[in-house]
Amino acid sequence: MCAGKASKSKTKYLGEYYGVWVYSNPMFNDGSALSYRKCIYVGEDVWDNPCKGFILQHEFGHYLQYTEMGSLKYLLHVGIPSIWSSWHNKAQVHNRKHYEIDANIRAYNYFNKPDDWNIRENPLSN
Ligand SMILES: [Zn+2]
Repeated sequence: MCAGKASKSKTKYLGEYYGVWVYSNPMFNDGSALSYRKCIYVGEDVWDNPCKGFILQHEFGHYLQYTEMGSLKYLLHVGIPSIWSSWHNKAQVHNRKHYEIDANIRAYNYFNKPDDWNIRENPLSN
């Protein structure tokens, strides 16, 4: 289930990204994002903005982690540590946590190692 789908919140359904449902919510307008199960939540300026495509690519990597790990393992090993880290670290530190890099590597491989991969925002190693 995806939060917000039928509620009066500011969550808007935007469309499908490689089979994953993408939603916007203003709470992610600071550039943060969240993914859980088959849903990705991003800010309102991401979906139509090619310059922010790296955000969807990264979150899709988290989706790939979820499909391999299942809900519980994903929450324990990625979801909760990731939220905690994003609260307590600057982006450049958070982006280099092993589960963040792992998400990038999975997405990078899934998308056939694109030449224009944003290595600064989505690093593939430490
Ligand atoms: Zn992440």
